[in-house]
Amino acid sequence: EAKRRGKGMWVAYTDEMGARISAEAVLIRELDQAIEENQFTLVYQPIVRLSDGTLTAVESLIRWNHPVRGLVPPTEFIPVAERTGQIVAIGRWVLREACRQAAEWSRVFPGAVPLSVGVNVAGPQLRDANLVADVSAALAEFGLPAAGLTIEVTETAVLDDEQSHATMVALRALGLKLALDDFGTAASSLGLLLTCPVTSLKLDRSFVESITTVGRQAAVATAVSQMAAALEFSSVAEGIETEEQRDLLCRLGYEYGQGYLWSRPVPPDRITELRARDLVSG
Ligand code: C2E
Ligand code: MG
Ligand code: MG
Ligand code: MG
Repeated sequence: EAKRRGKGMWVAYTDEMGARISAEAVLIRELDQAIEENQFTLVYQPIVRLSDGTLTAVESLIRWNHPVRGLVPPTEFIPVAERTGQIVAIGRWVLREACRQAAEWSRVFPGAVPLSVGVNVAGPQLRDANLVADVSAALAEFGLPAAGLTIEVTETAVLDDEQSHATMVALRALGLKLALDDFGTAASSLGLLLTCPVTSLKLDRSFVESITTVGRQAAVATAVSQMAAALEFSSVAEGIETEEQRDLLCRLGYEYGQGYLWSRPVPPDRITELRARDLVSG
């Protein structure tokens, strides 16, 4: 069997392609079941202020507790869920659960500056007409101030899309913060920074990985932090694993950092412990 592609180009439909397609069909069906049976869970990764190491925020990251395969990382199912649109239902759960947890943390630590909780939102979610209403309903349900929530969007999700833009403006109007995630990886248009109503930039991990004072990564990282400062956005460096990276990125002007140096993504109880320790010593 063959499949038509482009102008008169034919590609053999191989067994390998067939296997890949049916594996994906299985995954899609299992995801439907996962949504129905609520097989997802959220872990949280600390985001710290680089100047003093204070825990100021966390990012929620989804895990799929698959009945047979165990914990499945998001990279294995989020891209598929984005293609099928299942991300909309999954994302609705994520949003509600993150708001519930954020409200719980503000009850456990009354009087302390609230931890801001980050929620990743994919392109199809931004184009879902119900997103803004879902967000405000989740905030209201748990009595969470909008300032306690940061929505993380990637450049590709918002590039040249009027509806996404309008949604982001409406989310900002609710009082949420908006972060531009994985900054620098997509075919980034700097023009996006002129119109996109974000409040922070998250420098992608790929710039941090092999950063040294002399390399290109440092030059790009510096430009991004200076741009963020000039635009009055805050800046976060992702994927910090070593003290050298932390010190360098702090010197290059990053306000916040996130990475295995402090913690991998962990269950919420662990964040509660870290927070308690931070508040006592700070
Ligand atoms: P992201 O939003 O850029 O999240 C950061 C990813 O980098 C996380 O991977 C985190 O575990 C990983 N990371 C953090 N620090 C380090 C480090 O020091 N070294 C290394 N090697 N990795 C680090 P994770 O949890 O596998 O998530 C991958 C991506 O899946 C996320 O990237 C995000 O795009 C997507 N995702 C995760 N949860 C959700 C969700 O609830 N909704 C949506 N729509 N997407 C999600
Ligand atoms: Mg993120
Ligand atoms: Mg990221
Ligand atoms: Mg990423």
